Amino acid sequence: MAHWPVNPTQITRYLIDMVAINSINPSIAPDGPGEAEMAAWLIETCQTLGLETREQDVVPGRPNVIARWPGTGGGRSILLTGHTDIVQVDNMTIDPFTARISDGRMYGRGTLDMKSGLAAVLGAVMALREGGFKPAGDIILGFVVDEEFGSLGTHALLNEIKTDGAILSEPSGLSIAIAHRGFAWVTLKTQGKAAHGSLYGVGVDAIAHMGRLLTALEKMEKDVFPRHIHPLLGRPSAHASLIDGGLGISTYPDACTVKIEHRPLPDETPESVLSLWHETIDRLSAGDPRFSATVELDLFQPGYELDPQAPLVKTLESAYETTLGKRPVVHGMFGWLDSALLSMAGIPTVIIGPSGEGSHAAVEYVEMDTVFHCAAVIAEAVSQWCG
Ligand SMILES: [Zn+2]
Repeated sequence: MAHWPVNPTQITRYLIDMVAINSINPSIAPDGPGEAEMAAWLIETCQTLGLETREQDVVPGRPNVIARWPGTGGGRSILLTGHTDIVQVDNMTIDPFTARISDGRMYGRGTLDMKSGLAAVLGAVMALREGGFKPAGDIILGFVVDEEFGSLGTHALLNEIKTDGAILSEPSGLSIAIAHRGFAWVTLKTQGKAAHGSLYGVGVDAIAHMGRLLTALEKMEKDVFPRHIHPLLGRPSAHASLIDGGLGISTYPDACTVKIEHRPLPDETPESVLSLWHETIDRLSAGDPRFSATVELDLFQPGYELDPQAPLVKTLESAYETTLGKRPVVHGMFGWLDSALLSMAGIPTVIIGPSGEGSHAAVEYVEMDTVFHCAAVIAEAVSQWCG
């Protein structure tokens, strides 16, 4: 298919081996063993591919792997990156760690998210090696821990690595993704006044007052967010995730807390998310002196977008067309990815990975032909970028 000799048998073997390694993120499941065994396997495999390798300690027992194919000089460098952790498996209805292949699909935890992306990167490097490629710019492989929780791996990697571009092989359905939304966690609190349930003149109902903020949330969802449109990502969104309040059935509640998740577009900031709520609280307070509420931003991860005309996007488009004989779909993804962190560190990043279904779900699989295609596209893109 491509002009770099991708080896489907070897890529399949890589993926079966990686699926067999339990690398559940211990921050998600306390009995998760973490990424150390994956790191050892990757070091060995990258050495077999002739790369310089090292572990980078992120937290004790949870190393990143950095592998390097040094360029001859004068070319652009690239980072090929992806995460080695997986999420919990107790919700799965298939064997998580014994890969099963049926009808061109491989089943198991991490087959899609994202050990197939790692297999595609290894397959791409192998194809370039066997095809006799001599890069001018450095090719860096960065296999990172903890993407599924706090992205500690990418934060650590960026302390040491700076390249002219990055390809993140998270599952993108084999299309080229250049944007995604962020996420923000907001805590709203209403302050009431506790009183005996019969004392309507004394008690202030914090839960009913929270209802006013929830009505405001529905109004944002219905009237505000649909008018804020990104060409690749559509509108932002927010939903109430958790609620807590009340002292007893016969008591006016003194407080109510709601946690909201907001999924911002790339142009939204911590300040803009907070100001939506400050305006709402100010308006409600002005209309009722007994209304009292606060808002806090617990976490803000920004959205990401790369200019569709950026040289890296053009390289990926050209590599895709050369390899697969058709124009790629260029789009945005729903979820948050480490690409936002790479971009904040000044590394333009394109996301391309295989297709399948069931990330984090009961049944997870990847379409194997898309893994091979992904490897071929990455190989061609690297040869054009670093050549
Ligand atoms: Zn992932």
